[in-house]
Amino acid sequence: MFPASDVCRLFFGSSIRIEKNRIEIDCPYEYQITSRVDVDGIVSTQAAGLAGRNTIKSVAQIPANREIKRQLYRVLSEITGICFPWGSLTGIRPTLVASEIESVEAMTSMYDVRPDKAQLAIRTAREEARILEKTDERDVFVYIGIPFCPGRCTYCSFITQDNFRNSGLLPDYCDAVIREIRAMSGALKRVRAVYIGGGTPTVMEDPLLSRFLNDCLGLIRPDEGAEITLEAGRPDTMSEQKLLSIRRAGIGRICINPQTLIDRTLRTIGRKHTSDQFYKAYEWARKVGFSSINTDLIAGLPGETEQDFIYSMEHILTRMPESITVHALCKKRGSNLDTEQILSRFGDEPADGMVTYASSRIIQSGYHPYYLYKQKNTVGALENTGFAKEGKECLYNVAMMSDQRTVIAFGAGISKRLVINGKFKRLDCIRHPREYIDRVEETIRKKIEFFEV
Ligand code: SF4
Repeated sequence: MFPASDVCRLFFGSSIRIEKNRIEIDCPYEYQITSRVDVDGIVSTQAAGLAGRNTIKSVAQIPANREIKRQLYRVLSEITGICFPWGSLTGIRPTLVASEIESVEAMTSMYDVRPDKAQLAIRTAREEARILEKTDERDVFVYIGIPFCPGRCTYCSFITQDNFRNSGLLPDYCDAVIREIRAMSGALKRVRAVYIGGGTPTVMEDPLLSRFLNDCLGLIRPDEGAEITLEAGRPDTMSEQKLLSIRRAGIGRICINPQTLIDRTLRTIGRKHTSDQFYKAYEWARKVGFSSINTDLIAGLPGETEQDFIYSMEHILTRMPESITVHALCKKRGSNLDTEQILSRFGDEPADGMVTYASSRIIQSGYHPYYLYKQKNTVGALENTGFAKEGKECLYNVAMMSDQRTVIAFGAGISKRLVINGKFKRLDCIRHPREYIDRVEETIRKKIEFFEV
């Protein structure tokens, strides 16, 4: 049912109801659509009630899951008159398909992907492969999660804690992470990249932040020349002194994310900083010596026009960060934003124009796309793309998305992957920080067993 429900969600959002082998949808069309896979693996889809439509049958040697999606997408697209930029590719990694077929024409004709997206996917897939080739299956990538933020953005459903309401929790959380890292030190060999993400790790004030970073990196002992990234995230959590402490801890790459430079939107989405605070934080980061800065922008934020997005984009480009990540707004379950407010599935999709503009403008400015992924429930079913200047791509991002490298994650709310004979396994851990702190010994035992330390 998963492939079929993914495609139904693409057209009808979370209003679909799944019951055993049946999906029901409230919509203005009356159809019964049946998808079957026979004993020989031939897939067929039939829509009763659609005038003149015959059964579509599998014509290509592609996995049944993908074929079901492909056929169902065509039927629903014909019924609703709606096309999506990525066609029937609803999975999180369209670059995987692009790397298999490497042809714009094939992606377009087979999966109904729009030619500009097919081109982007093929180009990015080649870049991902080139970057991954610089690493080895024995290499290890480390993630440290800090699920605390200074308040919650309206579109976020991440298990993040408002630091001001839970200020007592953070030092205990840091201690628990350090315990975990110490216990796992036997597995921390050939560490090629470390990513300290969130949440917003810079909610920590000095001296807690400096102590935490120095303790973590002292225990991890990354390889010489390893990439070390800290997701500073919200500009209102930064100061020149804090950025200096981060730099002195040996961190070379930092993310400062405004998401938009329109102050009105920043207020709407519940981010308690202004565009000026972003410019200031960026200036401090350069001053203390960061030579690799990433900035994130989000397309499709509530109330934003294409002109607003272009304004943010152009102002980011004048700062010349080493990498820029463009996200399509994703309304996750549990966030404060109302679905209808952000998902305009059946009308014009301004986010599509924003993402298309960003892609060509960023490439024109000397960056190249190097990793790409999709999430469920994004505006217009659009993608997230990381662009970088040559040699400034984030190795961790590529390795983590590839599912072909070991990622050892510390902290709450993170999944772990392990390469075994070219395949990977995941280990999900406790997501809530309070529970994580209380049960850290249990987490350590599970992780030691999982990684066979
Ligand atoms: S900064 Fe990121 S993790 Fe924190 S509330 Fe906003 S979207 Fe969520």
